[in-house]
Amino acid sequence: RSLHPHPQTRHEQLRERAIRDPLTGLHNRRYFEETAGRDAARAVRTGEPLAILVIDIDHFKTVNDQHGHAAGDLVLRLLAEILTAGVRGSDLVCRIGGDEFVVLLAGVATEEHAARAARRVLDTLAQPIRLSAHEIFVSASIGIVLYPRDGNSLDTLLRNADVAMYNAKAEGRNRHAFYRESMREATAHRLSLEHDLRRAIEAEQFVLHYQPQVDVTTGAVVGVEALVRWTHPDMGMISPVDFIPLAEETGLIVPLGEWVLQT
Ligand code: GH3
Ligand code: MG
Repeated sequence: RSLHPHPQTRHEQLRERAIRDPLTGLHNRRYFEETAGRDAARAVRTGEPLAILVIDIDHFKTVNDQHGHAAGDLVLRLLAEILTAGVRGSDLVCRIGGDEFVVLLAGVATEEHAARAARRVLDTLAQPIRLSAHEIFVSASIGIVLYPRDGNSLDTLLRNADVAMYNAKAEGRNRHAFYRESMREATAHRLSLEHDLRRAIEAEQFVLHYQPQVDVTTGAVVGVEALVRWTHPDMGMISPVDFIPLAEETGLIVPLGEWVLQT
């Protein structure tokens, strides 16, 4: 007898491990790309429509922080169940990232149909989740693309669904958004600004402007307010109205705040 397991079995085990997410039991991104790639290729051949939904949990870091990682895991498993229960056998549900899932709906051609699927997910998720001691509330944001309208490769479709998902987040979360051409420019701008913001602290592109506070009865300067300004190397002065919300969303507000205090 061989000392090693049967090569076929071992191979299958490895294969299974490579394409499945152990936490939720769903397939992973790799499997999605392979299988959805095939589905997309078939759709191209047959001219069959399909819809792709990208679903990302809102403020999931807060769930982990407030209720613990185990509660976070429970939410992920629950969402996996909700998604699986809501689709037909021919549809595909995968976990493609930490709190990001994707659903491929074969044969779905209209926004109405895809929106109904998205709303079902959001409505089910809106029910409170009971933990032993308390209830937690979670929501998600969903980006939707339709094939062939929104792209002719899986790569493009997935990227555009992500753009739509971020748009749903920016519009207030707990909602779905369909991909629109106009979103891409805004997203590209945001991404490049975020990239530049990360470098701006090291590169010392921020300056402080001091605004004196004057006691109107005596005319004496009693303090100053420090206002942060960003001089972008190409775009010049960028208003705090534009970069502070971005800094808050990306967590860069913390090092920026430290820099301001130190300076
Ligand atoms: P947003 O509304 O912008 O999506 O905010 P968010 O906090 O959900 O941010 P984001 O989607 O970027 O973060 C996902 C978080 O998911 C990051 C990580 O802490 C958490 N996470 C990733 N994988 C796991 C996991 O397997 N279990 C648990 N409990 N948490 C995970
Ligand atoms: Mg999230």
